Amino acid sequence: MMIRLRVMRELVLITAVVGCSLSPLPPPTISTYGSEIGANAKARHGRHPGIDFAGTIGDPVIAAADGVVIDVSDSPASSGKCVALRHGIRGRAWFTLYCHLDRILTNRGNLVTRGTKIGELGASGAGAGGIAHLHFQLCTRACTTASFDGNLEHTVDPATYTIGCFDPERTYNPDALQLTYPVEC
Ligand SMILES: [Zn+2]
Repeated sequence: MMIRLRVMRELVLITAVVGCSLSPLPPPTISTYGSEIGANAKARHGRHPGIDFAGTIGDPVIAAADGVVIDVSDSPASSGKCVALRHGIRGRAWFTLYCHLDRILTNRGNLVTRGTKIGELGASGAGAGGIAHLHFQLCTRACTTASFDGNLEHTVDPATYTIGCFDPERTYNPDALQLTYPVEC
């Protein structure tokens, strides 16, 4: 009996330790909102209107909340391939934008749920500076291509509304803007 109890206690301990080590870490960023340093580690023309997530070409880019695809675009001279989503929350609209994609895997008008793969991370567009990363932007008006550095108008720091890694088991509050990271972690 004693042995069984001890085994059970050890199992509980092991589960706790493993559970802890499996909790996901936030994905690495290379340029935060408002930063004056670019993904290429050089000075920007102005402050950064989004967050740049590090990654490798082909990494899944996922919707940060439930929404509808309002635009897919390709601007080789600047933001490259972008997907723009609209999120309706309690009668108010928020917008998220995902740029420098290698591939776009959705279409305008599609309904997407949080965590849906909408594209693959890349380095498209001259603005990526040849560095594979995801430019993620949160807007209070429809953002269809990335705002130019220094133009923070109608943008908000996505980190303010980000609550963690996407977890398919978790229930999210539909009445609040709760973003999860736009890349897997
Ligand atoms: Zn960026």
